[in-house]
Amino acid sequence: MRCAVCSRQARGFGYFNPALHRTDPRRYSHRWVFCSMRCMDAFSRVMARLTGLREGAVLDATDLEIAAMRAALAPLGDYVASIGMERPLADYRKEEVLQLVEVVVDAYQAHMLLEHERLAEKERAILEQRLDAPPLPASGAHTRIPF
Ligand SMILES: [Zn+2]
Repeated sequence: MRCAVCSRQARGFGYFNPALHRTDPRRYSHRWVFCSMRCMDAFSRVMARLTGLREGAVLDATDLEIAAMRAALAPLGDYVASIGMERPLADYRKEEVLQLVEVVVDAYQAHMLLEHERLAEKERAILEQRLDAPPLPASGAHTRIPF
């Protein structure tokens, strides 16, 4: 199993959505496993806010993954340039290929983790802003929740 945030090997850090009832199948997902407390925390902070907004909402992992792949392009280009643009991949030594893989994987993982932390931070900021705002006047039977 791979970490749902950064794709490193998962190590027994699991998550379930406490906002959903025990019998709700969306409470658990076999994909919600993590490599570390850091990744699990980042994920659960984002999930907590998403669930508050729309019940059963899930992170769009696909968009995050595509963005993380794109984030690996510049480091990949830098590394290939450092080896020599004119050299075909078939001429790379094994260590150079491994280094290339490491550059890409590191960039991918770093982007995924930072993006989850950034999302969590953004959601927290929005929530705090709304809590600081003066309460809206109650209108009839519909009392608005400020978030
Ligand atoms: Zn991770």
